[in-house]
Amino acid sequence: MIYVSSRVSAFDPKFVVDAMLGDLARWLWMLGVDAKYVPDLCDEDIVEMAVRESRVVVTRDRGLWCRCIELKLPVIYQEGGELDELLAFICETFHIELEVDPRRARCSRCGAPLVFVPREELVDRVATGSLRRFTEFWVCRYCGAVYWCGSHHRNIREFLKRIRLRAKTIKCHVVYV
Ligand SMILES: [Zn+2]
Repeated sequence: MIYVSSRVSAFDPKFVVDAMLGDLARWLWMLGVDAKYVPDLCDEDIVEMAVRESRVVVTRDRGLWCRCIELKLPVIYQEGGELDELLAFICETFHIELEVDPRRARCSRCGAPLVFVPREELVDRVATGSLRRFTEFWVCRYCGAVYWCGSHHRNIREFLKRIRLRAKTIKCHVVYV
């Protein structure tokens, strides 16, 4: 079940996700969403970041949910359930398009924005076969990871198609604060 505080607004979605939600953060990054995920942040650090940067807290931790409710913060809490449900709910609520578009996607390793790089500049970093087969490449500004729309993209598209089908069906409890 998903619980949401009434402080959550569908505009300008920016998130901070707890240590248990690394997979969610990676999907949000791929969809181009600004989400902070730092595995060793404690609850108070997450709360502080949420307040300072106007972020919605996403958590599976009951203690953190209660703390955010006490402070009247925008927070989403998932009790049980799996990643598909939570991702579908967030994308539906915040009108996040379930498509990976490299022009707005972020690095799935660190969350930083990507920049388009001509393939001639990547001869030392990408296998020749991939350089020959694909024409567009993006590089993470922060960690340097290189991305292109290779065969793994079919799995990504299949997964997002499943999420799209689920998106309309997910219910939540709103807690008024
Ligand atoms: Zn990166």
